[in-house]
Amino acid sequence: MIDRERLKNFLIELIKIDSLSRRELDVAMRLKRELENLGAEVTIDNAGEMVGGNVGNLIATFPASTTTASQPLLLSAHMDTVVPGEGIVPILDGDILRTDGTTVLGGDDKSGVAIICEVLRVIKENRIPCSAIDVVFTICEEAGLIGAKCLDVDRLRARTGLVLDSDSVGFLFTRAPAANRMEFRVHGLEAHAGVCPEKGINAIKVAAEGIAQMKLGRIDYETTANIGVVEGGMAVNIVPNQVILKGEARSHDPEKLKRQTEHMQHCLEAAAAQHTLEFDGKRHQARVESKIDRDYDRMDVPESAPIVQLVHAAARNLNLDVKTSATGGGCDANVFNQKGLVVANLGTGMREIHTVNEWLDLKDLYLSAQMVLEIVKLNAVGNK
Ligand SMILES: [Zn+2]
Repeated sequence: MIDRERLKNFLIELIKIDSLSRRELDVAMRLKRELENLGAEVTIDNAGEMVGGNVGNLIATFPASTTTASQPLLLSAHMDTVVPGEGIVPILDGDILRTDGTTVLGGDDKSGVAIICEVLRVIKENRIPCSAIDVVFTICEEAGLIGAKCLDVDRLRARTGLVLDSDSVGFLFTRAPAANRMEFRVHGLEAHAGVCPEKGINAIKVAAEGIAQMKLGRIDYETTANIGVVEGGMAVNIVPNQVILKGEARSHDPEKLKRQTEHMQHCLEAAAAQHTLEFDGKRHQARVESKIDRDYDRMDVPESAPIVQLVHAAARNLNLDVKTSATGGGCDANVFNQKGLVVANLGTGMREIHTVNEWLDLKDLYLSAQMVLEIVKLNAVGNK
């Protein structure tokens, strides 16, 4: 029932509309028109103002068309794409959609958006009975899930559903790590590098010593850590007095996340403690200012959750093998779960995302759309 040609063409159309984070207006307007034509009531929330973007999250509500007591279902994807993502030229090579190598494809997450729209079209055309459906197309997922964070979930009827924002159609992600975001300011002491370096504390050196002691990368099977940004220094002839380090840690285990975060902070503090100076009767000491924020909580949807069972049942009906799995990445589903909903993340076929080599196999896209349609159908008959 999925119209492959229409789905493919709509995906390509969406990919050609630029929508970097905070600049999703054009694609949101296109989707608003599409969803209203399908009979939804569409609103746009004030998340755009809250995050400094040009449009908010798009919320579309479809009434139930069945008398069966079925649960309202959430279908969600994000409208924004990462850089470089302007002027994308999608190239179709058989069933493979790729780019000209200068931008991402934006299949992350336009594929999820296109699948949801196609499923809703099929439902309308074929008058398929279904539960109430809430569609949420978020902004700024790639900017730290901040569109979803601003979403007032009380505006939704659904308490469970799916985010379509991962690669393999064969996996339903039900577990994702919690993450901490860190910013460390390492303070040294400024001095002329040639005239009086003994009156300076080199903040770059302090930061380097601290980082050298840090366990980073893959810490264990469920924990990772990274220092991703280093900024500091004014000129080659000035002993630098400040370095800013930005990093993150993620873990499926909250206790391990806490330990890793403290470890990173401690490494820098220990390095700073090694750098003291005394002159002109004054004592100077390198020091570290730490700003640590919980980026998002973990996602941990149990196997027994109705949405997981629904996905398994749909996969069985289509003779597909879909496994529940854990991911190392965070997505809007983390935020939805944090807000009390039960939401898992289903694959769409996107590959090598966040690179200019991003590509997508249309066969996977069609399969994912069939899955979502089957899930909606099963949900309508109250299948648990
Ligand atoms: Zn994504």
